[in-house]
Amino acid sequence: MSIIIKGGTIVTPRKSYISDIKIKGEKIEEIGLDLKDDNAEIINAEGRLVFPGFIDSHTHLDLDTGYTKTSDNFKTGTAAAIKGGTTTILDFATQNRGESLKEAVGNWHNLSKGISSCDYGFHMAITHWNEEVKSELGKMKDQGITSYKAYMAYDNLRISDGEIYDILKALKEYGGLLGVHCENGDLVNTMIREQIKRGNTSPKGHPLSRPNIVEAEAVSRFIDIAYLADAPIYIVHLSTKEALEEVIKARRRGQKVYVETCPQYLLLQDKLYFLENFEGAKYVLSPPLRKKEDCESLWRALSEGDIDMIGTDHCSFNFHSQKTLGFKDFSKIPNGIPGVEHRPVLMYTYGVMEGRITKEQMCSLLSEMPAKLFSMYPLKGALEVGSYGDIVIWDENYQGNISSTNQIQKVDYTPYEGFKTLGRAEKVFLRGTLVVDEGRIVKENYGRYIKRGEADD
Ligand SMILES: [Zn+2]
Repeated sequence: MSIIIKGGTIVTPRKSYISDIKIKGEKIEEIGLDLKDDNAEIINAEGRLVFPGFIDSHTHLDLDTGYTKTSDNFKTGTAAAIKGGTTTILDFATQNRGESLKEAVGNWHNLSKGISSCDYGFHMAITHWNEEVKSELGKMKDQGITSYKAYMAYDNLRISDGEIYDILKALKEYGGLLGVHCENGDLVNTMIREQIKRGNTSPKGHPLSRPNIVEAEAVSRFIDIAYLADAPIYIVHLSTKEALEEVIKARRRGQKVYVETCPQYLLLQDKLYFLENFEGAKYVLSPPLRKKEDCESLWRALSEGDIDMIGTDHCSFNFHSQKTLGFKDFSKIPNGIPGVEHRPVLMYTYGVMEGRITKEQMCSLLSEMPAKLFSMYPLKGALEVGSYGDIVIWDENYQGNISSTNQIQKVDYTPYEGFKTLGRAEKVFLRGTLVVDEGRIVKENYGRYIKRGEADD
């Protein structure tokens, strides 16, 4: 049976307009005014916005950090995603050192299969590089992996500048885009020791050990490496105005540099590390939260089109049982915060409703750009004939508030506790099937693995 979504305002990055959408099976069959089909189910969307399903291209679900594991797995994390209107996530399949890429992808399939409530794909995080790993890149593409990640920080993950150069060159041959976590890991290690030595063992020491320059220097270095390799790149979770300046400079010399930032770098600031009773630990993530002027420059960049995507870097650890691992030493606090459930409503409330970005820009940042960059467009990230019926019917007037007591992310706090919100994903369709109604999940585990790159061929 077909479904016709009637009379909603369809939002695209270029314009918004009132139209009907007819879905047949998994895909959009027709878009136009006054669509008729006696056999179709009619969904009234008058007075509602209709977005293409949102894509979160940065999550860490069921991630084992070596001494603890994220509190959200694929079951709970993807349920939280779909409830908020995110129909697709891209998680980071991470290679354990010594492991082949094939093994790493296999591990992530095992973690996600059959229990995911939104669609999902994997970026491949390379933590160990040699000729053997290089020879696997062609096969990765066949498995639907078109993007990679490397780390410049974290001793168990980071690789050298030369290896990053080598990977960029290899990806030119095999296809694929490399994103990098840009912080100078060596400097971070030294500056952590410096803070601990001074007696700054509480969460206050966290931002002091990772100042803005630590990110900006790494961003500039990554950009230079990419210049030498003559390759496009993307920078994950950019957080500072200095790093943004490096990106803008690189684009002026003709480099293709794509940038992601996250809601936390727009809405939260480093004064939170000074909260009493170890509460600052709730905000320990890397890069750390920054100052008001950084937030402002990121908002400006969003409105001017200098930032391409909003991901969450969702990486949840319970405050009471996991963040406490670093009670005596901030560097032992597991790094990461939850956010996959709330990204759309935060960007709508504090971006669109506050006039900092338009709803069309929100559509680009949360849907179209991640779909394009990560080889899913126009099957995903678009409301066009032939696209998947990944559709969010958005109620602009719904008033809510964010709280750990009403979220479904499986974590005992939210960094946005008490934030008032406007709007919500009232109905969500995943490949033509209604999975969220009245803001509640009505169909679980409907997500499937998305083999990316198929739309490119
Ligand atoms: Zn991350």
